[in-house]
Amino acid sequence: MAANCWKCSAPAGPCSLVCPRCEAVQPLTPGADLFAVLGLPRRLSVDGAELERRYLAASRAVHPDRHQTATPRERELSLAASAAVNRAYRTLKDPVARGRYWLELNGTRLGDEGPRVPPEIAAEVFETQEKLAELRSAGNGPEGDALRREVEALRGAFARRLDALRDGLVACYATANGAGVPLDELRRRLSEIAYLRTLLGDIEDTMGEGFRGTDRRH
Ligand SMILES: [Zn+2]
Repeated sequence: MAANCWKCSAPAGPCSLVCPRCEAVQPLTPGADLFAVLGLPRRLSVDGAELERRYLAASRAVHPDRHQTATPRERELSLAASAAVNRAYRTLKDPVARGRYWLELNGTRLGDEGPRVPPEIAAEVFETQEKLAELRSAGNGPEGDALRREVEALRGAFARRLDALRDGLVACYATANGAGVPLDELRRRLSEIAYLRTLLGDIEDTMGEGFRGTDRRH
């Protein structure tokens, strides 16, 4: 990849977002992964403080406001770099999103094995779906109230389990310097998290409290 600034021809280095001499925003290196966009090592384990620092520096350097008086090409480059920096930050900050991205980087995806409920939670998923169906048809009254309490208890238990799974994911990234998690294990863990999130979403929907903040994509 050409490593010279398009504007002043100074050597800009591979994957640099801005020219070190004239500060012009550089075109994104084709095929650069999200780790490279922020200049981070390509590892599952990410140092949170380092990520914040690099994100703030990168977004400041490429921010469109800084390049307002620039030419259309410079503004376009600034917007593209800004979008890439934001996407990299959002993806790498969240351990679940980072894990999914890691699968993609390694040529596989979470849904590749089909919509199969992970065996670890199959029985609970089934029971919960049944309970939700009962609740939906129960209506108001004592029977509905009892079911609602049961479902609320399930929601609490699943939410705690989800937290524990996320913590487990972060711990597993940190082993073997963040590079040694087998893809099968990663997929299994992420798949369990995805199903628990879906289940929690179904619970929220059924409880009629709307649905906020949980990622339901597979
Ligand atoms: Zn330059």
